[in-house]
Amino acid sequence: DVAVPGKVSTRFDLEKVTELRFEVEAGEAAEQVELELLTGMAEVFGSELNRNKKYTFGPGSKIAVFTWQGCSVNLYGKPEVAYVSKDTPMLLYLNTHAALEQMRKQAERDNERGPRVMVVGPSDVGKSTLCRLLLSYAVRVGRRPTLVELDVGQSGVSVPGTVSALCIERPADVEEGFSVQAPLVYHFGSTTPGTNIKLYNKLTSCLADVFSRRCEVNRKASVGGCIINTCGWVKGSGYQALVHCASAFEVDVVLVLDHERLYNELKRDLPHFVRVVLLPKSGGVVERSKECRRDTRDEKIREYFYGFRGVTFYPFSYEVRFSDVRIYKIGAPSIPDSCLPLGMSQDDTQLKLVPVTPGRDLTYHVLSVSSAEDGDEGARKGIVESPVCGFIVVTNVDTQTQVMKVLSPAPRPLPRHTLLIMDIRFMDMK
Ligand code: ATP
Repeated sequence: DVAVPGKVSTRFDLEKVTELRFEVEAGEAAEQVELELLTGMAEVFGSELNRNKKYTFGPGSKIAVFTWQGCSVNLYGKPEVAYVSKDTPMLLYLNTHAALEQMRKQAERDNERGPRVMVVGPSDVGKSTLCRLLLSYAVRVGRRPTLVELDVGQSGVSVPGTVSALCIERPADVEEGFSVQAPLVYHFGSTTPGTNIKLYNKLTSCLADVFSRRCEVNRKASVGGCIINTCGWVKGSGYQALVHCASAFEVDVVLVLDHERLYNELKRDLPHFVRVVLLPKSGGVVERSKECRRDTRDEKIREYFYGFRGVTFYPFSYEVRFSDVRIYKIGAPSIPDSCLPLGMSQDDTQLKLVPVTPGRDLTYHVLSVSSAEDGDEGARKGIVESPVCGFIVVTNVDTQTQVMKVLSPAPRPLPRHTLLIMDIRFMDMK
């Protein structure tokens, strides 16, 4: 145990089945906190800690170090709070994992598919954390589950405003989470499903389709099943979107975190063979303010361009002529039914591609680069359902010369020329 120079160290001795919770102060100037396991065994959200290794947690981190057997750990630095809790739902979460694992075993035996699990609940109940835990436990016993990320506000996989799927091949890194290699990402364009619920449901169906096709050709993926993380919007159309997701993915299990009414509604509305389970939330889950959520989103975009922790990326900045790209927004403003052309429904307007004329107001917007082939009008049809191959940010628009400057992870030229505009903006302060 070598102390971290200049930092106070605090030792915690944890009894079995307890957890140390700590939060690192938010803000740029805040000091990081290091964690070290001294004796025994412990895990952070399902990933095991190595002994005598220092793990670093940056500003705003909210961490739980859980131990099944008992352990002692050191914290270096000054966390905003740090306390030990005996009251955790981890045993129930582990049992959930065990039940899912039984289903995978049975699937293996009977040549069936493994469990498809949807995790639902209001904001700040630990949905993402439970997904991470179940995925890490599954991969630790040799499974290859898929994470489906439908939380367009706080995506764990890609930038905000997207839905995605990721095959999980190793447990989440204690500090960095899951390694994101080759995710399948679709453009949604805003941070709440409510801005275009038709599009949201359509993309959910696209993901379900791709996942099912993969399961047909990949036995491990099929047996591994999937864990679907959803948005915290559980009323009205938000609720309908959950029901839609359950049917699109043909889910077998729904885990409802801390919301009895939602649990009862889903039990009532989903087919009887779907197992709906109510689970308590952990007392450790911390509520996040609007600002905190915005900062997290911003950080996610910054990471995309500039890298994360040890890995630094050097993005490119170059000019793109308006005439070389086609920019679209998905969804036209809704108009009264009586004004719609004959034979057209509101659905059509919400999924319509609306050409965007580049102007100054494009500045700072995040644009998705669609993987759709650059083609003629006919090819426009497939754009909504095409995954994206990357993102750029408009940093300047010159309407005189008809040129915009963009920040891009790769050098010029753009791999494709169909761009989809997000409501989301990113101001590059570096
Ligand atoms: P959202 O509605 O934004 O999707 P969520 O329900 O997915 O939220 P999480 O992101 O899983 O919630 O958790 C919120 C925060 O609480 C995260 O920063 C997470 O690290 C932290 N957290 C979760 N469980 C614990 C715990 N047991 N102890 C301490 N912190 C925790």
